[in-house]
Amino acid sequence: MIELLQEITSKCLYCAKPKCVAACPIGNNIPHILQLVKNKQFFAAARELVHPFGSVCSLVCPQHANCQSSCVLALKDGAGVDFPVVERYLDTYWKFTIRREDLPDQNQTVTQNGQTTVINPIKKIAVVGGGPAGITIATKMHLAGHKVVLFERNSLLSTLRLIPDYRLPPSYISEVIKRTEFCFEYVNRNVTPQLLVDLTKRYDMVYLCVGKNKMYNLGIPGEELATPYDQALTELLDGEVIVVGGGNTAVDCATLTKARAQKVTIAYRRSVQEMPCFPRELYYCQRAGVEILNNLAPVKLEKVDDKLHLTLAKTVSENRGKLTVTDEQITLVADHVVSAVGSYFDKTILSAFGDTLPTNLVLLGDCNGGSLVREAIAQALASDHTRIGALRN
Ligand SMILES: Cc1cc2nc3c(=O)[nH]c(=O)nc-3n(C[C@H](O)[C@H](O)[C@H](O)COP(=O)(O)OP(=O)(O)OC[C@H]3O[C@@H](n4cnc5c(N)ncnc54)[C@H](O)[C@@H]3O)c2cc1C
Ligand code: SF4
Repeated sequence: MIELLQEITSKCLYCAKPKCVAACPIGNNIPHILQLVKNKQFFAAARELVHPFGSVCSLVCPQHANCQSSCVLALKDGAGVDFPVVERYLDTYWKFTIRREDLPDQNQTVTQNGQTTVINPIKKIAVVGGGPAGITIATKMHLAGHKVVLFERNSLLSTLRLIPDYRLPPSYISEVIKRTEFCFEYVNRNVTPQLLVDLTKRYDMVYLCVGKNKMYNLGIPGEELATPYDQALTELLDGEVIVVGGGNTAVDCATLTKARAQKVTIAYRRSVQEMPCFPRELYYCQRAGVEILNNLAPVKLEKVDDKLHLTLAKTVSENRGKLTVTDEQITLVADHVVSAVGSYFDKTILSAFGDTLPTNLVLLGDCNGGSLVREAIAQALASDHTRIGALRN
């Protein structure tokens, strides 16, 4: 391993304006970390990874737009410096750790001119949603010395658990939980709109990190006969399966299902070039033997005897712009049809606030426009907790 690390770190040009750093929304100081590893200062290097998801990022960050593919050497000869391997090594063997000196002194008082002030008072923080955004902000707030309660309706990192094991082994998820769970009090509870209002009254700051909490419908008659993608990702389907959608979720569903099902087909309403999934995942999906049918939009789903009949209309699309649905239709027959057309942030959770959101409520991650793990972490790291002091002293 050490030899591999030496090889990787020797390859780096230690650029003055590193393109790898520009590609990382988390802002990892990649050349600096590589330099520390080159000097065998592993612990110091690991401490530069300022969040607990290093290994996770090294596996799930989009390969076509990450530090390695943006490296100046990748632009030259196609092989960028393999920082994800270094990141995984540091995170696995040296771990995201917290030292006593990292923690601030709190609730001490200073008296000046007869006036006593509390320095850095401990604040009460509520985090709603235990995904990458929620866990990162909870850890950050704990490190800033505050008391954090995290509310989660399923299990911690439930969205990451949907990523198939061959892309993100479950041990990576348990490791993140193991190393961070002492940073917050965990409450396994669904937060309703009214409870959210109460939290903003009872806590100094509330971070809403509920992700894309609602699945899009197919919007066709017979919709209820379709299997939702989260079910297809957790219970392997068999027989003949059609997956409707063209994003990562659809591709993950199809590749995973192919391990057991006799035949798996993806039906997507645009061309293959317009599929929003990562190119690498599409490649593996095709290699697994999944058939990809493009420019087909679902029209209706019916049960005929024991089978599902999915009618699709042919479409014409360009460059993710206009989509024209034609009158030409085909019908595909299957045992299961999976609805994997994505999910969105359902704002019902904000409905009890009326027109104005309270100033101590901050949205982070997928529910704030993100769509990747690294964006959720970056938003949480960038959010400015110094505001808390200004809000409620
Ligand atoms: C199948 C699949 C594959 C993916 N592949 C990749 C990939 O390869 N690379 C990548 O970067 N990203 C990928 N993503 C996207 C990635 O998982 C998300 O971008 C990321 O998890 C967003 O983090 P978050 O913290 O904002 O939200 P989430 O991780 O979605 O976490 C939100 C949490 O809030 C909880 N919650 C929701 N509502 C409430 C409520 N009312 N009360 C209490 N808790 C609530 C949920 O249960 C959930 O645990 C994938 C997603 C899926 C589904
Ligand atoms: S762009 Fe590549 S060569 Fe330049 S600092 Fe980053 S990893 Fe090193």
